[in-house]
Amino acid sequence: MLDEKLQPIFDDVLRRNPGELEFHQAVREVLDSLGAVVAKHPHYAENALIERICEPERQIIFRVPWIDDAGKVQINRGFRVQFNSALGPFKGGLRFHPSVLVGTIKFLGFEQTFKNALTGMPIGGGKGGSDFDPKGRSEAEVMRFCQSFMTELARHLGEYTDVPAGDIGVGQREIGYMFGQYKRMTNRYESGVLTGKGLTWGGSRVRTEATGYGAVYFVQRMLQRRGEDFAGRKVVVSGAGNVAIYTIEKAQELGGKVIACSDSNGYVMDESGIDLALLREIKERKRGRVSDYAKARGKSATYVEGGSVWDVPTDIAMPSATQNELNGEDARKLVKNGVRAVGEGANMPCLPEAVRVFADAKVLFGPGKATNAGGVATSALEMQQNASRDSWTFEETEERLATIMHGIHDRCAQTAEEYGEPGNYVLGANIAGFIRVAEAMRALGVV
Ligand code: GLU
Repeated sequence: MLDEKLQPIFDDVLRRNPGELEFHQAVREVLDSLGAVVAKHPHYAENALIERICEPERQIIFRVPWIDDAGKVQINRGFRVQFNSALGPFKGGLRFHPSVLVGTIKFLGFEQTFKNALTGMPIGGGKGGSDFDPKGRSEAEVMRFCQSFMTELARHLGEYTDVPAGDIGVGQREIGYMFGQYKRMTNRYESGVLTGKGLTWGGSRVRTEATGYGAVYFVQRMLQRRGEDFAGRKVVVSGAGNVAIYTIEKAQELGGKVIACSDSNGYVMDESGIDLALLREIKERKRGRVSDYAKARGKSATYVEGGSVWDVPTDIAMPSATQNELNGEDARKLVKNGVRAVGEGANMPCLPEAVRVFADAKVLFGPGKATNAGGVATSALEMQQNASRDSWTFEETEERLATIMHGIHDRCAQTAEEYGEPGNYVLGANIAGFIRVAEAMRALGVV
């Protein structure tokens, strides 16, 4: 049950955003944590502050027409939800995936607001994207789509206004095409308008690796508090995209044995440990599937078409694919198989029931808005370098990322303790993120 002050706010969110299930889920999870805050500090419930936090500042929906290689006109829908700019310009990625609806982008923008606040950096929250499916599209089609998408979006962006980056389906290639179009339209080399850029045209070192590396740092810090670490531990990572690849890399560097990863078709189990060079060759260069990895890897790998990667017994689980990919049943299986820690590399990959199962079993659980904040934090470092026309070394940038992740971890842990629930990182992340946004909103007045 929600707090009596919060229930009417949630009822209103349900009424005004019909059918947007992922958005409802994300809001519900945060409101679940805020009961204790409004009881202790009633001023946070004044001036409709929580209602305002649940309402995006601006939502932009637009048509994206483009012409495919066969000369046929294609129409997609573009989105940018500018959720909250109390702490800085709207900041958050763009997702290109056929499943994208406005509710998807709203849930991601809402999560992003708290995540960005947790980093301690001057960035507001936003998210965007399109239902465009890049899978199977030619290089030229992707470029034309990105150019058409940016032609409309450009008017809403700016280094002091809104700064997109990548997410699922948007990597350095797409950021490049969008940056090129923005530069052409505005006649400005405004590096700080997009992050995730290439190193020769304004990008930051470590940005590509940051989400995965950061997630591993976060889990490492959780483990250390129990006197444990990655060394010799079995690790299962879902997904095989950017987050998964660099989660695997860092987990292996710390001595973990990563034995499985997946994509939307199935999973691969590799008892002798995932061969990362091979996986990267197939995923990043050939844009292939994990079944291709299994084929190329030979005997040590088993591919399970249509199976759940959470069937694989592991010590550490890092869901790094997409939202709602790990349900209650998966969580019970993981617990039965002895899982010790779960770190969300993706945004909201665990269903609420799964989160409850982990909590009941006292499994360490790092929620996405804390655990995967390394990507956006390094985006903020990219903005910093762009503003000062500087570029830092890999070592310096990675060290900053590690410090930021440890800071986020400690802030969450400390807040959970303050609110009488030590070890509850979900509560800690939601409250610490909320308070930082709420303080800025109170200072800026009703705007
Ligand atoms: N899409 C990433 C996220 O979910 C990164 C956003 C960014 O770098 O702006 O946090």
